[in-house]
Amino acid sequence: MTDDLLARHRAVMPSWVAAYYGDDAIELVSGSGRRVTDSAGRTYLDFFGGVLTTMIGHDIPEVREAVERQLATGIVHSSTLYLIRQQVELAEKIARVSGIPDARVFFANSGTEANEAALLFATNHRRTNQILAVRNSYHGRSFAAMAVTGHRSWSASGLSPLQVSWLPSSDGLRGRMVGLSSAEHIDVFLDDLREVLATTTAGDVAALIAEPIQGVGGFVHGPDGLLGAVKKELDNHGILFIADEVQTGWGRTGAHFWGYQAHDVQPDLITFAKGIGNGFALAGVVGRAELVNAVPGTSFSTFGGNPVATAAGNAVLDYVLDHDLQANARRTGDILLTGLRALESPIVAEVRGRGLMIALEICHPGTTDPDPAATVRVADECRRGGLLIGKGGLYGNVLRMGPPLTLTDGEAREGLAILTAALRTVARV
Ligand code: PLP
Repeated sequence: MTDDLLARHRAVMPSWVAAYYGDDAIELVSGSGRRVTDSAGRTYLDFFGGVLTTMIGHDIPEVREAVERQLATGIVHSSTLYLIRQQVELAEKIARVSGIPDARVFFANSGTEANEAALLFATNHRRTNQILAVRNSYHGRSFAAMAVTGHRSWSASGLSPLQVSWLPSSDGLRGRMVGLSSAEHIDVFLDDLREVLATTTAGDVAALIAEPIQGVGGFVHGPDGLLGAVKKELDNHGILFIADEVQTGWGRTGAHFWGYQAHDVQPDLITFAKGIGNGFALAGVVGRAELVNAVPGTSFSTFGGNPVATAAGNAVLDYVLDHDLQANARRTGDILLTGLRALESPIVAEVRGRGLMIALEICHPGTTDPDPAATVRVADECRRGGLLIGKGGLYGNVLRMGPPLTLTDGEAREGLAILTAALRTVARV
């Protein structure tokens, strides 16, 4: 059954849309909470949530019922030419939790579109197309989003509407940040920023776009306070800060509601997507009114913030806040991080992350040389053991976990045991 679907997938889908597990690709046919079942009847603990997107779990009654209530009205779509109650309510809530005074919210359908919109707001307001971006970042697949993506495998085109200058990656295993203390790391970054501003820009840069924790880049992040120190320098030049919170928002990092809050900084614009719809297509930008309003024309998104997606979004955000899922992410994330750090596997060069955003760097034993083949083997072993996890990183050697924020302590321990067994099996080979 799955084989047949895989053959049909390959016959009709673009070659670069790759499914996990090669010839043994999985079709998920049902889900509940943190568990999913494939077409062969095997059930897995889901530690990737469709790339950190089923943020509160599968088939959550509160979300299903909110969507069903909206469907029952007969209005699936109206466009923003008409008032959408669910959309206004969600915008009010997002403005409130954003930390941005007098914020405006623009809804789109994907993280890419959200970043595209934020770049539009910033470049219009500043009247320049110069942007700062960070190496090893991922911001999406439109021309502008690809242009600020510092990750070769995801940069499918060199065409760009922007002039981009690059700041260093915070990778602590290789490159210029190796072995540095947090304070030294921040100093090196700031020196580089000043040099870049002085040498590769015309000075009047529109914005820096950065992920507080780089998602696709393998959950690489700088020390706490880095983005705050950077923003102080940016403020000297009037340069805006766009925080891409597509993976890090809504309490996932446990310690904070937004990833940027680890940095003592206030972004001018925040982009969000993935988790807020819990699988329904919902994304957007929240930012200072003068920036969001800076679009010198009429603009709208046909589907962005539609009644069904925002019905889901309201239910998801209410659920996150009512159940304090940020605290749950911190507690269950600690179980995972503590257990993984105690493992001392010879093939794990680094355990990193925050809350329920956890990554393992898989390297050849005793080195920091990436081992993407072993990474695939660990992911395959996990799948055999009943656990779905993700991969990523610049060298394809990072195992990524972003379980639903509703993860229980028992499920965290269960996943940890499967992952531990998988790492032991692969390390023995
Ligand atoms: N920004 C970040 C940090 C992401 O991780 C992603 C997707 O993985 C995007 C933007 C693009 O989002 P989308 O795939 O919804 O367009």
